[in-house]
Amino acid sequence: MARLVMKFGGTSVADLDRIRNVARHVKREVDAGNDVAVVVSAMAGATNQLVEWCRQAGALHDTREYDAVVATGEQVTAGLLAIALEGLGVEARSWQGWQLPILTDNAHGSARIVDVNGDELIKRFKERKQVAVIAGFQGLHKDTGRITTLGRGGSDTSAVAIAAAIKAERCDIYTDVDGVYSTDPRVVPQARRMDKIAYEEMLELASLGAKVMQVRSVELGMTRNVPIMVRSSFEKPEDIDPSKPPSGTLICDESEIMEQQVVTGIAFSKDEAQISIRRVQDKPGVAAAIFGPLADASVNVDMIVQNVSADGATTDLTFTVPSADYERARMTLDKAKGAIGFERLDGATDVAKVSVIGIGMRSHAGVAAQAFKALSEHKINILAITTSEIKFSVLIKAAQTDLAVRTLHTLYGLDRA
Ligand code: ASP
Ligand code: MG
Repeated sequence: MARLVMKFGGTSVADLDRIRNVARHVKREVDAGNDVAVVVSAMAGATNQLVEWCRQAGALHDTREYDAVVATGEQVTAGLLAIALEGLGVEARSWQGWQLPILTDNAHGSARIVDVNGDELIKRFKERKQVAVIAGFQGLHKDTGRITTLGRGGSDTSAVAIAAAIKAERCDIYTDVDGVYSTDPRVVPQARRMDKIAYEEMLELASLGAKVMQVRSVELGMTRNVPIMVRSSFEKPEDIDPSKPPSGTLICDESEIMEQQVVTGIAFSKDEAQISIRRVQDKPGVAAAIFGPLADASVNVDMIVQNVSADGATTDLTFTVPSADYERARMTLDKAKGAIGFERLDGATDVAKVSVIGIGMRSHAGVAAQAFKALSEHKINILAITTSEIKFSVLIKAAQTDLAVRTLHTLYGLDRA
């Protein structure tokens, strides 16, 4: 017997059939003797529709009203799932974010949770074994009492926060994939599902665009030490043997991973653009003159490479930005040209970033060097490199992404046997 949080995303509650399927999964855990809090997303596509309505109603709308609108998607699924559970004879009650409450700061549209009150849920587990069905994504601003939302994909974060509040043994994230893979199986068919992955590795993977979970939810799991299991809601509840450990990927503390591999995963992103500033003055304050205005324009700068100055007076500086920020970045730099002082801007959007992640890199030297050699053998040219403690990334031509990912996946022994 345990206390569990079960979270179901949009595709898992896409229609009434899928909601009934969720109810059967919940019943399965209740029948096994567990206390269960379920967190649900809005039906697939519902939030997009609500966001679009806000945009059409007024391009520059107040984010407090945006939250009032987009929070409604989850209200529907929470109520429907409670009804479906009652239909199966499982006692259940729905909860909106404001009813618990889940208190947040005032960043409407992407609020951060400051506190979750789980007392009433625990009381009802004890007194009547009542299942709590909680609308994900929603919060309540701690001072104004207005509804907030946690940013797109935020119900993952709701789930982990609730798990921490009720001291759940585990937070199960049910989704349309059956776990976290060593890389995208569409690119590398030999990609393997990991049994376990450390929080820090998952954080890197999620930040680099492996769209399994909202990054904040992984951060929260790490700081509050909530084990998170990524598993499939498409597995039939009837087929699951309650006496066996569940199949999926457990995101946990690194100390719980016995055989830590040096490299655990390869991530990639084709939504990258590269900007080179040619013959910029090589003197103190130039980096600030370049990156200050970009930060003010909310351009997210990632890899930065500055060449050694050949003439002692000017240098070239290259960096990457998300492709969505590319035009804005160029315009911002053009405007600041006088203040910065450079000859010209070159840019390319046909680039991709490939990243290699693994906690084992902390204690193993030469991991990146192996990659550089393997890539060169495949005539893949590296345009920029960044490294951190548990990952390194290379920027390459976008057309070579798949080849690079496959090469590295094999190189580090990640291919499934
Ligand atoms: N429904 C919200 C969204 O689509 C929250 C979530 O599903 O996690 O972003
Ligand atoms: Mg999601």
